[in-house]
Amino acid sequence: MAYLQFLGAAGTVTGSKHLINTAGNSDGRQGFQVLIDCGLFQGRKEWRERNWQEPPIPPGQIDAIVLTHAHLDHSGYIPRLVRQGFQGPIYATAATIDLCAVMLPDSGHLQEEEAHFHNKKGTSKHRPALPLYTLQDAEDCLRLFQPVGFGEMKQLSKELSFRFVHAGHILGSCMVELFLQQNGKQHKFLFTGDIGRVPLPCPTFEVPRPDAAQAPGRVVHAGPEPGEDAELMVMESTYGNRVHPHEDVRPQLAQLISDTVHRGGSVIVPAFAVERTQKFLFMTKEIMESGTCPRVPVFVDSPMAIKAVEIFMKYSSEFNDDARKLVNKYGSPLTWEGFHFAAKQEESRKINDAHYPCIIVSSSGMVTGGRVLHHLLQRLPDPRNQVIFIGFQSPGTRGEIIKNGARSLRIFSQDVAIRAHVAALEQFSDHADTEELLCWLKSFRQPPRTTFLVHGESEAAQQLQQTISLKLGWKVDIAQWMQKVVL
Ligand SMILES: [Zn+2]
Repeated sequence: MAYLQFLGAAGTVTGSKHLINTAGNSDGRQGFQVLIDCGLFQGRKEWRERNWQEPPIPPGQIDAIVLTHAHLDHSGYIPRLVRQGFQGPIYATAATIDLCAVMLPDSGHLQEEEAHFHNKKGTSKHRPALPLYTLQDAEDCLRLFQPVGFGEMKQLSKELSFRFVHAGHILGSCMVELFLQQNGKQHKFLFTGDIGRVPLPCPTFEVPRPDAAQAPGRVVHAGPEPGEDAELMVMESTYGNRVHPHEDVRPQLAQLISDTVHRGGSVIVPAFAVERTQKFLFMTKEIMESGTCPRVPVFVDSPMAIKAVEIFMKYSSEFNDDARKLVNKYGSPLTWEGFHFAAKQEESRKINDAHYPCIIVSSSGMVTGGRVLHHLLQRLPDPRNQVIFIGFQSPGTRGEIIKNGARSLRIFSQDVAIRAHVAALEQFSDHADTEELLCWLKSFRQPPRTTFLVHGESEAAQQLQQTISLKLGWKVDIAQWMQKVVL
C-alpha cells in the first residue's frame, strides 16, 4: 500500500518534507518515492540539529522532489540532499526556480560564514565546524530543477502525477494536487504548502471586512484557488490561533514616515531581501506618489535586492492590479527616482554617512545578521529615528528583543542603547489567518476525508484543529514527526 510520511514541519513551522511512497508496486521496485518540499529546520536548536541527522531514507532512493515555493523552510535542505546522493528531478514553477537560484546559494554562503566564524572563535564542539552545505553545493543542485507551469499535469511514475495550483503566498508559490492510481481508482491529495492571504470580503465571515478586499501590502495576487475536492489534505497551520489586523496599513506607514522626517530622523526597516522588501518598496512608492508622506531618499541595502527585484519584474503577470498599475506608470523600482540599491559593500557604507532623513531597507528581516546590524548600531541610540518591523520576529532573535521594547541590545560585542521609536506592522504577513483559512475551506466542493495539520507550533495547530472541527465538522488530525499514513 502507498503511504505518506511526515519527515518535517510536524510540531514546528520549519523543515517541510512530506514523503509519498507508492510501496509494493508491480514492477518489483521498492516503490516510487517523492518528497513534497525539502525544507531546512530553523529556529530552536533541538530542531536545527535534525538538519544534521542521517536522512530516514537514503537520498539516492528518492525519485523526485516537488517544491511548493522558494522559502528556505520549504527548499533549503535541497543542496544537502543532493550532496548526499539525491539525483532526481526537482519540479517547481519557473518563478520559484529563479528565486531558489538566488536564495539557495545565499544560504550556502551563510552556512560557510557561520562555520568560519565558529572555527575562528572556537565556539563549536565540532573541530572543524563544517557548513551544512556550501555555496558551491547550492549552485550544483540548481541543474536538477525543472519548470512546471500552473495547471499543467505532470506524470511522475506509472501511478503518480501532480499539478500545481495557486497558493497566493509569495511569487511563484503553489499547492500540489497529487494523483495516485491505486487498485483501478484515482485518488487526489492536496498539499497546501504555505497559504497566502485570502481575498475578502468572504460571505462566511461573521464580521464583514470590506477594507481587506485585497490584502494590503501585497505585490503578487492574494489567495489560494477555491473549490478544492481532495480526499486527503496536508495543510499548514502557522496562524491557526491568530487573526491579523485588517485595516489598511498605508495611512499608518505614511504617518510613521512623516513623523520621523519631521523629527529629522531616519526610518530603518529590517526586511528579508526577497518579497518583503519588494512589497515595502511598492507601498512606499504608492504613498509618496499620493502625497501622504514626504519624498525622502530610500536606500535598499542588500546584496540580493537587485536580483530579487529583477525576478519580480520578470513575473509581473503574477502581480495584483495595484502593483501592475504602479509598474505601468513608474516602471521598475530599479529606475525610480530617489530609490537607491546598494549591491556592494562600499555603497552600503555610504548609507551610514547619510545624516539627512531617509528610509533604509536592509536584511536580515529578524536582525540575526546582515547589513541591517550596521544601520541599527548607528541609529538605534537616536530618539529621532524609527525602526519598523514588517515581518514575523522569532523568539530569541534581536528583532524580537527590539520589538518587545528592550532598552539596549548587543551588536558586534557592543551594548547599544535603544532610544529610537519602534513599530511593527503585522498587515504585511504572507500567511492567511484563521478566519481567512476557514473562508477558503468553506469554498471546498467536498470536505477531505482527513486533514492533517503541519507547519504550525503545537498551540496554533491544536487551536486550528478545534476551530475546523467545530465550525465545519471535518476530521482533522495534527501530523506527528515521522508518522506514516496509509493512503
Ligand atoms: Zn513560505
